[in-house]
Amino acid sequence: MTTALITHPACLAHEPPQGHPERSARLVEVLKALEAAEFRALKRESAPQASKAALERVHARDYVEAVLAIIPKSGFARLDADTIASPGTGEAVLRAAGAVIKGVDLVIAGEVKNAFCAVRPPGHHATPNRAMGFCFFNNVAVGALQARAVHGLKRIAVVDFDVHHGNGTQDIFTPDANLFYASTHQSPLYPGTGSADETGIAHNIVNVPLPPGAGGAEFRRALESVILPALTRFAPDFLLISAGFDAHRDDPLAQLRFEESDYGWATGVLCTAAERLCKGRVVSTLEGGYDLDALAASAAAHVRALMAA
Ligand SMILES: [Zn+2]
Repeated sequence: MTTALITHPACLAHEPPQGHPERSARLVEVLKALEAAEFRALKRESAPQASKAALERVHARDYVEAVLAIIPKSGFARLDADTIASPGTGEAVLRAAGAVIKGVDLVIAGEVKNAFCAVRPPGHHATPNRAMGFCFFNNVAVGALQARAVHGLKRIAVVDFDVHHGNGTQDIFTPDANLFYASTHQSPLYPGTGSADETGIAHNIVNVPLPPGAGGAEFRRALESVILPALTRFAPDFLLISAGFDAHRDDPLAQLRFEESDYGWATGVLCTAAERLCKGRVVSTLEGGYDLDALAASAAAHVRALMAA
């Protein structure tokens, strides 16, 4: 069985103002890297648009309607200081969440082993009723609740190695003992959440903040000694990955020092854990990563490891 690559050209048409780090060139470079011969076996799938019903499993109905209503016909609409909609944003946010839904559906149907959703905008900062940090809808949480609502799975885990804490995913998962969220991230850094004492209703939230300057060794230790044991105790039926690559040493938005090989390693150990815990069911979705070369190389290492799982 193979790995699915799920994307859509509409994800390129979300165009924040010039100079915004979350730009369409990010996805262009990721997709270019995944055109290499070694990725020929990927099952390439088109992302559908998420339905309102799927979004409303995660977000307040008023919020979903407000986001879709604010999309401008021309120019920009500002949802918060750095989360800015352009005319193409409406379809992009629906396709980004829809990609994760499609990944979950394909993996549970057994059509693919696992999946990578190459989408933007990212999602892990979006809370049930607030856009922030470049994020509109929480793509990974929409996928998690798809696995539960449509496929009847019970316990869903998200592991997030983006350099920023996924405050939105944590907010959504905190009150539900059958949802698990674990994150490595730089601290201090935006959005300021994610301390180790934020543990959820049932130790279903696991945060491992890393100090500026920490690198692959600290990342590997956090995964092996804290996150993987907690994930094993949680015993998920499905594993999602919030795959941000902005902890790379070349990334301009933060000061961690991960390398491509760290992302390949982490993906491998997460897939091995999933094999043991949940039949290898893994869906990963792109979050951050703002140095184009580092992003493309890191995403390639990540997908290579998904394919090898
Ligand atoms: Zn990030």
